[in-house]
Amino acid sequence: MIIGKCPYCDGNVISQKINVQGQNVIVYACEHARKEYDLTESYVFSAESTCRFRIYSNALKRWNKRSIGHYEIKSLLEEGQIKVRLHGRKGTREYFKYAITDEEYGISILWDEEVSL
Ligand SMILES: [Zn+2]
Repeated sequence: MIIGKCPYCDGNVISQKINVQGQNVIVYACEHARKEYDLTESYVFSAESTCRFRIYSNALKRWNKRSIGHYEIKSLLEEGQIKVRLHGRKGTREYFKYAITDEEYGISILWDEEVSL
């Protein structure tokens, strides 16, 4: 499924279900940012890849956001940033932060910016 245009090149961003260590994860990746296993079994960008845009749906799991949905990626591609709902540890309140695309990590959170609700 095509989600939108890649922020780094003219490619389409496509969503794909994959299985990582027994977990179903969705990867949102530019069609020019393909990964494959190399001879040492490392999962790396293929030689033909000219782009690095890849976001995994569980990229914000550390902050207790279980999954990043299609519509969130769509607005991230259209607007350059999105508001994400994060949670503290069990029993603490949810909070909102802005997230932007990041060439190295796919997505990163703007910790210093306050979100007005
Ligand atoms: Zn791209």
